[in-house]
Amino acid sequence: MRQPLVAGNWKMNGSLASVRDLLAGLKAGIGDVKVAEVAVCPPAVFIPEVQAQLDGTPIAWGGQDLSVHESGAYTGEIAGSMLTDFGCKYVIIGHSERRTYHGETDELVAEKFTAARKSGLVPLFCIGETQEERESGVTEEVVARQIDAVIKHCGVDMLGEGVIAYEPVWAIGTGLTASPEQAQDVHAFIRQRVSESSADVADKLRILYGGSMKPGNAAELLAKPDIDGGLIGGAALKAEDFLGICTAAN
Ligand code: 13P
Repeated sequence: MRQPLVAGNWKMNGSLASVRDLLAGLKAGIGDVKVAEVAVCPPAVFIPEVQAQLDGTPIAWGGQDLSVHESGAYTGEIAGSMLTDFGCKYVIIGHSERRTYHGETDELVAEKFTAARKSGLVPLFCIGETQEERESGVTEEVVARQIDAVIKHCGVDMLGEGVIAYEPVWAIGTGLTASPEQAQDVHAFIRQRVSESSADVADKLRILYGGSMKPGNAAELLAKPDIDGGLIGGAALKAEDFLGICTAAN
């Protein structure tokens, strides 16, 4: 049985004051979350505050990106060991915003997967097609290519130490959500693709859905057999909305 995971990706949002408010709200309501594992991924500078507030609670935290390097002259970068120093369990890698705005390739993302595991972090490995790719009927080809790059570089067993997040790019921040059937179809394809390398890894691997997930649509998405949780953007910035999604897995 795969335990659902609901993770919040705060992206580049918030202030110290708003982060404190959000964390207070999450701590107050987390007791109602019975089934899902819960995590938040704040902007890196807020991680120490998140650690101070969430230590000892059931909520885990993580980074939004990491360097492929362990240390050195890489201005602006953050090493995996720095994230674990501040108690991070997870790190998002390969988010479409990093692929699009920072030119991250499938190969670089695969290297980041390895770097995360070397530091003991659990990668939340994001994949997904653009609107144009979906319209041209190459969704499966795109997600297969993204997954295969990690399997080739890291091996399927290491892939199984992470979590996949299927985030159709056209659904991110647009208010357009993949229908539960559309999402389930791609999730099933992803699991099938991984099972070609290892049926055991495929069976245990958690595959999250991301893209305009909110309290109103979470339950029907999470009810699908291959949807094992969510990676939440906008709705993770309000405690009530985020907890509403977390309790939809109850
Ligand atoms: P939204 O929930 O705002 O669509 O963002 C999804 C996402 O990109 C999470 O990583």
